[in-house]
Amino acid sequence: MIKIKNLSRVFRTEEVETKALSEISLTIKQGDFVSIMGPSGSGKSTLLNIVGLLDSASSGSYQLLNQEMIGLKEKEKSKARKENIGFIFQNFNLIDELSVYDNIELPLIYNKVSSAERKKKVEKIAEKLGISHRLKHYPQQLSGGQQQRVAVARALINDPKIILADEPTGNLDSKNGNEVMELLTDLHTNGATILMVTHSDYDASFSQKTILMKDGIILSEKINSRNVDVLISEKI
Ligand code: ADP
Ligand code: MG
Repeated sequence: MIKIKNLSRVFRTEEVETKALSEISLTIKQGDFVSIMGPSGSGKSTLLNIVGLLDSASSGSYQLLNQEMIGLKEKEKSKARKENIGFIFQNFNLIDELSVYDNIELPLIYNKVSSAERKKKVEKIAEKLGISHRLKHYPQQLSGGQQQRVAVARALINDPKIILADEPTGNLDSKNGNEVMELLTDLHTNGATILMVTHSDYDASFSQKTILMKDGIILSEKINSRNVDVLISEKI
C-alpha cells in the first residue's frame, strides 16, 4: 500500500536548516496497523503529513498504491489525497462554523457525491459512531470525545484506503481516549490500514507494530506483544 524509500524532508528558514526526516525507509501493507512513537521533534508529524499528502518530501521516493507521489503537481496530489486518505488530528480540526452534519459531509461534496447519496452516507456513519443525535449541533457544543468521533466520521466517510491519525487521543481524557482506540481497533479488525502517531505506550499496544523515531530517523521497529499472543494462539 505504502512504500517509502530514502525519504528526506528539510525545512529551511533564513537562519536555520532543519532535517526533519533523514533517509527514512518504510513499507506498510494493506490491513496493517502501525504506530509511530518517539520524542517531540523527531519527525513523526512530518512523516505522517507527507504520507497524507499534506506536505512534500525534499528527496526520496513515496509510492502510494504503486504510484509515485513525489513530484506530483498540487492538483494531482490533492486528488490522490481526497480519494485515498482519511486524516484524524489531535485537535480534531473540525470547522466550528459548520454543523456536525456539514463537517462530516464535506469530503463527499469535494468528491461530487449526489446530495441524496451524501445524506444516506452521513446518517449511516453517524449511526455507526453513535453521534446521530448530534448532527444538528456545532463542534463547540460537543465534548472532546464526541468531537473526535465527528472527526473520525469525516475521515471515514469516503472509505479511505488508509487512515492516518496524529496523536488522536492526545486531547482526550482516558475514557474518551480508550473509546477512540477501540474505534480504531474495530476499524482495523474490519480491514482498515492505519498509521498512527502516539505518545502513549498503551495506545501503541493496540497496533501490530511500533516504529520508534528519533531525530528524523527510524531507530527500531517492534512487533507488539498483544499481537504476538494472537499469533501464538493462532498457531496452537
Ligand atoms: P514530531 O511530530 O515528532 O514532534 P515534527 O515532525 O513536528 O516532530 O518536527 C520535526 C522537526 O521539524 C522539528 O525540529 C520541527 O521543529 C521541524 N519542523 C516541523 N515542521 C516545520 C516547519 N513547517 N517549518 C520549519 N521546521 C519545521
Ligand atoms: Mg507531532
